[in-house]
Amino acid sequence: MQIYADNAATTKPCKAAIQAMVSCMEQNYGNPSSVHHIGQAAAEALLQARQDIAACLGCSAREIYFTSGGSEADNQALRSAAYAGAKEGKKHIISTVIEHHAILHTLKQLEEEGFSVTLLEVSKTGIVTPEQVAAAIRPDTCLVSVMFANNEIGTIEPIAEIGAVCREKGVLFHTDAVQAVGHIPVDLAKLPVDMLSLSGHKFHGPKGVGVLYAKRGTPLRSLICGGAQERSKRAGTENLPAIVGMAAALKAACADLEKNVAYVADLRDKLIAGLERIPHSILSGDREQRLPGNVNFCFEGIEGEALLLLLDAKGICASSGSACTSGSLDPSHVLLAVGVPYEAAHGSLRLSLSEENTPEEVEYLTETIPEVVAYLRGMSPVWRDLEEGRKPHVI
Ligand SMILES: *Cc1c(COP(=O)(O)O)cnc(C)c1O
Repeated sequence: MQIYADNAATTKPCKAAIQAMVSCMEQNYGNPSSVHHIGQAAAEALLQARQDIAACLGCSAREIYFTSGGSEADNQALRSAAYAGAKEGKKHIISTVIEHHAILHTLKQLEEEGFSVTLLEVSKTGIVTPEQVAAAIRPDTCLVSVMFANNEIGTIEPIAEIGAVCREKGVLFHTDAVQAVGHIPVDLAKLPVDMLSLSGHKFHGPKGVGVLYAKRGTPLRSLICGGAQERSKRAGTENLPAIVGMAAALKAACADLEKNVAYVADLRDKLIAGLERIPHSILSGDREQRLPGNVNFCFEGIEGEALLLLLDAKGICASSGSACTSGSLDPSHVLLAVGVPYEAAHGSLRLSLSEENTPEEVEYLTETIPEVVAYLRGMSPVWRDLEEGRKPHVI
């Protein structure tokens, strides 16, 4: 059996996306900036994709800016707000300790450029409250950036409430919604959000393409200088095949959203129930405010990397922490932030499901993973120390 359970890292492109991309490359190869009819056909396809995405998000097509992905959208959102704020002497930014590195590393650079950054701590289940945000806002705060849903532990943040606080205080609000869009309802007509990032490959679209939504009137600064594409906010000939593929994938995801949420959340809950039976394990993230597809466990006494390799040999594709941190020996900053003990954070396993997974696959996962964990513990000197009482269990 082969099971793909790493949908938070990336998803398999859906048929609608692939078809849209192939037909775009075959028929709409023109440059949307060209005056001739082949260029204008491409410009029309670009506009259609923009309108389709705007319709899914509940915003205007003129508020959509295409980027090379979620990372670029995050970078542009933060820098746009930071530099606009600096012009008014506002150089303070608020975010959280559990953001994606596209946010955290950009904030590090901005700090080096003289901005001051407050990273809010989160609760044991990964939640940041509107009260925390309100208390952290200062007269010189130019931006609050809080992710919609966390990519590792799946916690969904109270974005509407946090946005309301920012609006009331007149501070720009950005949310990294890369894990949320296409998976849970995101309606910009109702949400008090100024900027939002999304990425095509997290909802069965292609990689290397994303969107920065910027509400009308939000100051935007171009990171890539050149031509006048994207209303002069993002230069470079548009990646039209990827853009139409992303639009097709988002349309499909939004059309089936309610059905998919119910189906995937049911698989998730069965998987959680199955894995919770493993002794000395802990589920990270919030049980209620949780992405439909996210399951994240830490198992004491084993190494996440070893677990991944053995699972891979059994056909299971999963992840430990986030793909960006694997390869480094430091445990995930998100797991540490929600209070998972350092030793236990090394034994983390993230399974991220999508509507393509089946109940049979979940059954296989709930049978196989406990066996593999037991096997690894059987070989682990750390586990022996724990079991024979030379070291205390931490979970
Ligand atoms: C994947 C991801 C990103 C980065 O998106 P890319 O399109 O891969 O650059 C940013 N934020 C979150 C929360 C993500 O999950």
